[in-house]
Amino acid sequence: MSRVYFDNAATTPIAKEVIDAMVKVMELDFGNPSSVHAPGRKARTIIEESRKSVAKALNCSPGEIFFTSCGTEADNMGIRKSVDCCGIKNIITSAIEHHAVLHTVEELEKSGRIKMHLVNLLENGHVDLNHLEELLQQNSNVLISLMHANNEIGNMLDLEKVSELAEKYKALFHCDTVQTIGHYDFDLSKLNIHFLAGSAHKFNGPKGIGFIYINHKTKITPYITGGSQERNMRAGTENIYGIAGLSKALEMATQNLENEIKHIQEIKTYMIDQLKEKMNGVDFNGDTEGNSLCTVLNVSFPPSSINEMILFKLDIAGISASGGSACTSGSNAGSHVMKAIKANPERAAVRFSFGKYNTKAEVDFVVIKLIEMFQVKKSVEA
Ligand code: PLP
Repeated sequence: MSRVYFDNAATTPIAKEVIDAMVKVMELDFGNPSSVHAPGRKARTIIEESRKSVAKALNCSPGEIFFTSCGTEADNMGIRKSVDCCGIKNIITSAIEHHAVLHTVEELEKSGRIKMHLVNLLENGHVDLNHLEELLQQNSNVLISLMHANNEIGNMLDLEKVSELAEKYKALFHCDTVQTIGHYDFDLSKLNIHFLAGSAHKFNGPKGIGFIYINHKTKITPYITGGSQERNMRAGTENIYGIAGLSKALEMATQNLENEIKHIQEIKTYMIDQLKEKMNGVDFNGDTEGNSLCTVLNVSFPPSSINEMILFKLDIAGISASGGSACTSGSNAGSHVMKAIKANPERAAVRFSFGKYNTKAEVDFVVIKLIEMFQVKKSVEA
C-alpha cells in the first residue's frame, strides 16, 4: 500500500476538479478584477460568483462573505475588528482554541485593550456552558470566541446553545469553524454568529485562501487599508485562482455532504472498533464517541518506550498522522490542548484525521502497523 494519509485536519489533498477549475482561471482569466475592461470584468465576475456560491452553502448573504488569505487571517480579522470597532472590552475564550485565536486574544490582553477570560472545560474536554453563562453574567462588552470543532480532539461545541447565550447576554460571537466548514451543514440564518472563519485547504481546496463571514449587522472598518477590494474591508489584488478553487471545493463538499460525513464517520468508527478489539490499553482523548467531529480521532497509547518515536515510526511505515495541531506536529510535547484537557503525559497522543478519499483498508493497514510497532518493542523489552 502506498502512503496512508491520515492527517486531514492538518490539510487535505486538493480535489482534481478543484485543480481543473483553478487551472482554467489561470489559463484564461488573467485580468485584474479592479480593471474596468473586459478581462478585468471577467475576473470580477469569477470572484462575485464564488462569493455567491459560498454564501449559498452557508445560507447567508454574499455581502457577508470576505475572502482572506487563510483561516488564521479570518480569525485575526474577526477578533481584532470586534475590539477596534464594536467596543469589546472582554473576550471569553477557552484554553483549547487554535493559536490563531489564543495568541491573538493574549496579545490584545497584553496591550491592555481587553481582559481575557478562560471558560472552564469539563472532564471530557467540552466547554462548561454553565461557566460560560456565569462569565457572561459577570461581564459586559463581551466577545465570545469559541471554536466549533477542536482540531486536536474533535470535540464539537453546541453552536445553537452558545449562539442563544450570546443573544441573551448581548455578546458578540466569533466562531473558529476552520475544521467544520465543508464537513457540517451550516445554516447561518438560524444562528446568532457575528464572525466565522473558514479555510479552503481543510475541505479539499487550495492553501492560501480562506474567508470570514461577518454578520451584516456588525459594522467594521477596513482590516487591510489600500485599494477598495473586498468592499473596502481587505485591500490587495484578490487571489482569484484561490477564490475560484475555494468556491469549487465548498460547492463539491456541500453537494456531497451527507454521503461524505457518513463515509468519514464509518472510517472513524471502524478505526475505534479495530483499536479496541486488537490493542490492549488503547484509549481516546476527547468526547470521541459523543459530540465529536467525524474527521478527527485522537488516540491515547499506553505508556511505552516507543511513545516518543511513534510519529516518526508511523512516518517510516508510510503513515501520515500528527501529534497535535500542524504547528506542533512531529511532537506531542508542546500541545496546549493535551495540557488543557489534562491528558496523561505518560501516554502518547496521536491524532488520526480522515477525509473523503480514505478507506477502511487503510485503517486495517494502520492498525496492523500499530500492533507490529508495539509488539516489536514488547519482545525487545522482554
Ligand atoms: N483554526 C483551526 C481550528 C485550525 O485547525 C487551523 C489550521 O490548522 C486554523 C485555524 C488556521 O487555518 P489556516 O491554516 O488556514 O491559517
